[in-house]
Amino acid sequence: MNKEYEELKNLLNKYSYEYYVLDKPTVTDYEYDMLLRKLIKMEEENPDIIASDSPSQKVGGKILKGFESVVHNVKMQSLQDAFGADEIRDFDRRVKAVCPNAEYTVEPKIDGLSVSLEYENSLFVRGSTRGDGMVGEDVTNNLKTVKTIPLRLNVPVQRLEVRGEVFMPKKSFEKLNAEREEAGETSFANPRNAAAGSLRQLDSSIAAKRNLDIFIFNVQSVSGMEFKTHLESLEFLKKAGFKVIDDNTAYSDIEGALERIKEIGDERRKYYYDTDGAVIKVNSLLHRELLGETTKVPRWAIAFKYPAEQKETTIKNIFINVGRTGVLTPAAEFETVSIAGTNVSKATLHNLDYIRQKDIKIGDKVLIQKAGDIIPEVVKVLSEKRTGEEFEFNMPENCPVCGAPVHREEGEAAYRCTNFACPAQAVRTIIHFVSRNAMDIEGMGPSVVQKLIDEKLISNSADIYTLNKDDLVNIDKLGEKSAQNLINAIEKSKNNCLSRLLFGLGIRHIGQSAARSTAKHFKNIDNIISASAEEIAEIDDIGMIMARSLRSFFDEEQNLKIIDAFKAANVNTEYIDESAGFDNRFAGKTIVVTGTLETLKRAEAEDLIEKYGGKAAKSVSKNTSFVLAGESAGSKLEKAQKLGIKVIDETEFLKMVEN
Ligand code: NAD
Repeated sequence: MNKEYEELKNLLNKYSYEYYVLDKPTVTDYEYDMLLRKLIKMEEENPDIIASDSPSQKVGGKILKGFESVVHNVKMQSLQDAFGADEIRDFDRRVKAVCPNAEYTVEPKIDGLSVSLEYENSLFVRGSTRGDGMVGEDVTNNLKTVKTIPLRLNVPVQRLEVRGEVFMPKKSFEKLNAEREEAGETSFANPRNAAAGSLRQLDSSIAAKRNLDIFIFNVQSVSGMEFKTHLESLEFLKKAGFKVIDDNTAYSDIEGALERIKEIGDERRKYYYDTDGAVIKVNSLLHRELLGETTKVPRWAIAFKYPAEQKETTIKNIFINVGRTGVLTPAAEFETVSIAGTNVSKATLHNLDYIRQKDIKIGDKVLIQKAGDIIPEVVKVLSEKRTGEEFEFNMPENCPVCGAPVHREEGEAAYRCTNFACPAQAVRTIIHFVSRNAMDIEGMGPSVVQKLIDEKLISNSADIYTLNKDDLVNIDKLGEKSAQNLINAIEKSKNNCLSRLLFGLGIRHIGQSAARSTAKHFKNIDNIISASAEEIAEIDDIGMIMARSLRSFFDEEQNLKIIDAFKAANVNTEYIDESAGFDNRFAGKTIVVTGTLETLKRAEAEDLIEKYGGKAAKSVSKNTSFVLAGESAGSKLEKAQKLGIKVIDETEFLKMVEN
């Protein structure tokens, strides 16, 4: 018994660590919950064995390194869960035994990450994660990027602490995962992990891009005010400027609450946020006090968990999608099944490692569910149903779209098509090529690029220089005048410096500043093409990964053909010293730009630093001369402050670069 208990406890602790700390669960919530119930049953039958590190004794998470810890003034508890109506009725009996007149409220249970927000004199001063319920992580800077968190309240209040759930809307989750997949990064298992992973970023500019949202569901403490009921406190929260779930019904009979749970269950797939259940709470705050709490959960609330719908099906085939960044993503095609309201027949398999980890073979019987109710995924292979006819999948050696060789970089899960002109990548590559920081071809937005590709007028960046006015007039909605302007912009871009062209090629790991240093060092494109990786890596700021990436780009025949096409179209391939007319006022200075600036883009500020002879660095060290910090600057700003390095804002910077 003890050994079995020990093993189960350790397994659950491992799952908890993967879920709460790494934001990467390896089993479904339902599997976890059922194992936890088994453990709790063992503990109830044999209370002597209860270990102090049992997951039944503590609330979820741990503090990530890099965040300050916050001791919660009011403990942030978890919720007891229920998997059926009978368990809710049992809860009702327990409540009514203490408070016969108790009334209940019912709210969707938002599947996100619990946070506490503190206000002083109506101003947002601190926000933290739940952590282990007693101590959480200070994520104030990241929370400031959540647009629905008021930084100043609409009502005067000296001290207020509220609790809410940060979440990622389903659409944003879908988009983020699609982008990560295309970039060859691991995708998040569900919106909850995506929200947690985003909020626990040390760099708040990442959190800012993740479109996080929040619902506030509780007043933890407040000065100078008293509420009698939960609904009254929600009314106050709304008035104060918080986003709350608007449902002001109180149920005296548990059957009414159960009906509402069913209703939420039927509607929840239409919500723009993910819900994994409904929370029933006792409405009267006095009743709550009478009922009290255990070490882990309050006795006045319970979470009803909706079962995740899973269906069995057979994998007919595994096919490859080539994304806009050239990543080859395998996906399973299976016999159509209806889950969570729609028919599904495909699910991404992410990458070869994932397929091998889950031991997925073509012909396998599998269980399918929807992650966060939206993205179909293979839960597991039903290996006991194998017939011996199943067969292993292997990645193709050539891109299924263009036939070019496929390459997997060491240490990466993704396989990529090596052809920069691969039609699957063309849209993204060309949009990047014409963008402001690259060749800066004004008027050539994403929709124009897409149309030109659809009309087969261009298939790679060099084709842009073969376009004439008639080609452009004929594409949708582009009038005579705009077509001429676009032709002029294309013509003008031919005179750009080599650094813009090099950046515009969209070579992996080669950002604006690497392109600039390389162009400056080698002076023309032919010198770069003939340089070895070691020679390239001799440039300051260029590491071996960047150098190898440049080298392998120019090793591909197709890419060299495009360079020839640029030359044939008279596109400049020489370095132009753009700092002419700029003095050396930043000579010898190493400057780091961080956060969101008000008027300049970060890259523009870095450009100015370099033109004035300075060095725009990416990380803060004791050699940094000063840091230019904008809104939501995160760890770099903190490091600068710790090291006592001067920090300036954009206004001061603009004064420095004024002539
Ligand atoms: P929980 O998510 O089940 O419930 C408690 C949380 O619900 C609270 O922290 C609160 O923030 C949130 N909540 C959302 N909407 C709310 C509302 N309207 N009112 C009140 N609270 C609301 O509990 P937990 O302790 O955070 O985590 C346990 C969950 O995590 C389980 O579902 C479990 O399956 C999952 N888990 C999964 C794994 C895994 O490996 N898959 C591992 C550990 C935990």
